[in-house]
Amino acid sequence: MHENDFLALAQPGLRRLRPYDPGHDIVALRRRFGARLVELGGNENPHGPSPRAREAILDALGQLARYPDPLGGDLKAALANKLGVDAAQILLGNGSHELLMQFAQAFCGPEAGVVMSRYGFAVYPLAALAADAPLTVAEALPEGHPMHRGHDLDAIRAAVDERTRLVYLCNPSNPVGTWFPSADLERFLASLPEQVLVVVDEAYAEYVEVPELQSALTLLPRFPRLIVTRTFSKGYGLAGLRVGYAVAQPGLVAVMERLRESFNVNLPGLAAAEAALADEEHLAWHVEQNRIEREWLSTRLRDRGLYVHPSQTNFLLVDFGRDATPYEEALLAQGVVPRPMRGYGLPTCLRISIGTRSENQRLLSGLEGAGA
Ligand SMILES: *Cc1c(COP(=O)(O)O)cnc(C)c1O
Repeated sequence: MHENDFLALAQPGLRRLRPYDPGHDIVALRRRFGARLVELGGNENPHGPSPRAREAILDALGQLARYPDPLGGDLKAALANKLGVDAAQILLGNGSHELLMQFAQAFCGPEAGVVMSRYGFAVYPLAALAADAPLTVAEALPEGHPMHRGHDLDAIRAAVDERTRLVYLCNPSNPVGTWFPSADLERFLASLPEQVLVVVDEAYAEYVEVPELQSALTLLPRFPRLIVTRTFSKGYGLAGLRVGYAVAQPGLVAVMERLRESFNVNLPGLAAAEAALADEEHLAWHVEQNRIEREWLSTRLRDRGLYVHPSQTNFLLVDFGRDATPYEEALLAQGVVPRPMRGYGLPTCLRISIGTRSENQRLLSGLEGAGA
């Protein structure tokens, strides 16, 4: 039997679903380039997690024969304390990716659709397809707008109709890096019909420094159908452990708890996330390094005449104004890995994570070799 024979047996949503596209075979590249490889494709933290997270993982190793706490109580308490919410408002996930998928699984279906922005995060359409829910993609902000390709909340609002159940927003946005102000989000939320849930994906929240963008967490008390997702994979440098979370109304969390696999966050993950959260100094240091390097790198890329989208994240979306494949290939040949954007419908762009100064220099010389 072939894939199609099994697909005929699978639930309808799966027929249109494709596996997540990670961009490059990073393991093969590591084998080829060894320690010289510069990985700028996954928006990972080049400095790594807090040393306290490493210690917590070593401590946790003594208990590997035991199941993790199925409630994640300590991590939830620490998060609740830090974010000023109730522990009952927190849902833990095996990365926020898992939760983003499960919101659609829980709330959407053939009669309950999904709305997202063009150039929204690639997981949102997968979530809609997996739930066999109709997906409406709203146009992004046009060329000439300072937040070009970012979310257009008016267009997203116009795409919402009586069949919409879930809206995915990403702020700041991956893969564009741009953002919309909290005041606009507030107006958007107030304008929505009753049956619509809104996920605000804040995977890059730690990197935000512009005052007009506050976390959507502050809006939770006023908008009961708002869900905010966060992750330990980016600013906290724990992508390999898979820990994310959502904050929402306790009632919504309770519904999601029915679907959650009991031990979805593993034992070292829980311990490391809690320790990383406590090390505010390490996070602040990393965020400051990222800010310095983001400015340094954007200036140099713009000096070469490239269009660099504004960013409040740890990556830059760079538009080469022509097919970006030759630049991508030149970088790969030098052992520098960017994220191709063809899958997002942006063939002239590459998404480049902010590395350390020496990594960013490798990127620039790789581009120079390709004539950019
Ligand atoms: C990286 C990222 C995530 C999170 O990933 P996890 O590692 O699964 O927590 C979620 N949303 C966006 C937009 C991201 O860029």
